[in-house]
Amino acid sequence: MKNFAFHRPKSAAEAVAALKRCPDGKFLAGGQSLLPVLKLGMAEPSDLISLSAIRELADIRRDGDRLIVGALATHDEVHRSPVVKQTIPGLAALAGGIGDAQVRNRGTLGGSIAHADPAADYPAAVLALGATVQTDRRRIGGDDFFRGLFETALERDELVQAVHFPIPERCAYAKFGSPASKYALVGVMVARFAGGVRVAVTGAGPKAFRLPTLESALAGNFSPAALTGVAIPAQGLRSDMEASADYRAHLIGVMARRAVAAAAA
Ligand SMILES: Cc1cc2nc3c(=O)[nH]c(=O)nc-3n(C[C@H](O)[C@H](O)[C@H](O)COP(=O)(O)OP(=O)(O)OC[C@H]3O[C@@H](n4cnc5c(N)ncnc54)[C@H](O)[C@@H]3O)c2cc1C
Repeated sequence: MKNFAFHRPKSAAEAVAALKRCPDGKFLAGGQSLLPVLKLGMAEPSDLISLSAIRELADIRRDGDRLIVGALATHDEVHRSPVVKQTIPGLAALAGGIGDAQVRNRGTLGGSIAHADPAADYPAAVLALGATVQTDRRRIGGDDFFRGLFETALERDELVQAVHFPIPERCAYAKFGSPASKYALVGVMVARFAGGVRVAVTGAGPKAFRLPTLESALAGNFSPAALTGVAIPAQGLRSDMEASADYRAHLIGVMARRAVAAAAA
């Protein structure tokens, strides 16, 4: 690992200003994705801007029909939060299934979505719930946030401050995790709102994506039976040492039915 300068600003504005001054700096949240990247020599930033002293970014609260989760909220805080359990229990459950206890105690919502791992869990929630990402300078709709493999709409020095999740009538997440890493081989989140159903898949492609065919099938009949016979093509899905594209297509159907059953229960 190469040497780097370390900064610990006290506010979001200071953090952004610090990053702007660096030739090649990076924000550091829980370090659960960034530190392995540094150790492997896959990135050599000149500066790390730690967000750990900016507690305002860890706030979790309800605001009318939205749940607002600060970027620095850890997976464990989201999992245990009474507000999250009361408003979007499916999101609390999703956070509780990320990695292991150590990862959940350090890893954060903001770090997860900024990293945009194609097998991460939160991207499915951002898409299925139609969330909005609040940064230091704008709001980005969830559908526009994930651009590709480890690629988002964020600018180099843009700080995720919070994610605004509309509160659905019902939602649930079902994941078939890798036995080794716990990352999703396939994860499916379904959410029913008064205006329709949203279904998002993670782990199966270069980035999380919505599945309009499943959304239409569930719109008139929000039950696992509505998904019987709905074809899920394997074309374009990931194929690797853990699972073929065909197997992932099959898993999408199984996880979608499990998620709907859990949400409808
Ligand atoms: C063993 C292991 C198992 C895991 N299993 C899972 C799993 O099952 N499911 C899953 O979803 N994830 C899993 N993860 C990843 C984990 O969830 C990470 O916590 C997450 O991907 C990154 O969050 P972080 O806070 O640690 O971010 P960091 O590692 O600190 O940062 C990651 C990236 O995001 C940027 N960043 C961080 N915060 C912000 C911000 N607020 N604004 C802008 N950019 C920011 C950083 O500059 C960096 O580029 C696992 C990780 C490990 C090590």
